[in-house]
Amino acid sequence: MKYCIFCKNDAFSLEIKDQLLKAIKLEYCEETPDIVIVVGGDGTLINAAHKHPKAIIFGLHTGHVGFYANYTIADIELMIEDINSGNYQIDDIDTLCCEVKSDSAEILNFALNEMTIITPPRTLILDVFIDNERLETFRGTGLCVSTAYGSTAYNKSLHGAVVDTAIKAIQITEIAGLNSNAYRTLSSSFVLAKERVITLKSINDVDVYVTIDNLSYNLHNFKSIKISLKEKSLRLGYHNKTSYLERIKRTFLCE
Ligand code: NAP
Ligand code: MN
Repeated sequence: MKYCIFCKNDAFSLEIKDQLLKAIKLEYCEETPDIVIVVGGDGTLINAAHKHPKAIIFGLHTGHVGFYANYTIADIELMIEDINSGNYQIDDIDTLCCEVKSDSAEILNFALNEMTIITPPRTLILDVFIDNERLETFRGTGLCVSTAYGSTAYNKSLHGAVVDTAIKAIQITEIAGLNSNAYRTLSSSFVLAKERVITLKSINDVDVYVTIDNLSYNLHNFKSIKISLKEKSLRLGYHNKTSYLERIKRTFLCE
């Protein structure tokens, strides 16, 4: 087993990294690690997952607990012992498979949190299909399609629903949808079953920005994007499960 460390660039996280380098007994390898230890927050973990999607990821959160990390600073010795002994559990989590087509690129990538599509400064017009059935023609700033894990990220800022991570679901949330007698959309977040396939089709082949987690693509003559749930596609190492309610409380409800 080989491992590497992904670390947030702050003094405290770097100190923790040094401590881990001395304590972890596996071979260090940045190219093809079997295990990636992430020291930082959810953002750092998402970054690491995009670099090493096949590795088992151990998140050590240096702030509050977060949504992807399963260890906090108080658990550092426990995590070292788990990794050195190979005695740990694995949580297989879902991601979104995103297939984007435009004149300038075809992109196949996965999202842990969400994908968004926007067209500043004009309004974006998209036909929204669920499976192969047309739902609506969206007009507005954009759309956000998120996982249950991502429901507390960008989706929450857009007033989308927080979805229990025990539920396998895909959520579509509008970013400033335009509603009038001329344009009509659902206007509320739509939580869909895991089997659903969402297709967003361009009406007028405009230039758009597509974001996938922390990645962003500027696309010329956007055609379509197909989004589906890829079950059990990323592995997170853990010792004890932190309850979802505890994660919600520590992130959002600390008084
Ligand atoms: P960032 O802008 O540096 O940080 C985004 C913030 O979101 C961080 O505080 C991060 O927590 C937190 N976060 C990430 N995933 C989360 C989740 N699943 N639930 C709750 N909070 C979460 O960007 P980044 O660190 O590269 O992360 C990329 C993410 O930023 C995107 O996936 C998107 O969800 C989010 N974003 C949000 C908005 C918005 O709310 N208006 C706009 C753009 C992007 P940590 O401190 O633990 O890293
Ligand atoms: Mn961050």
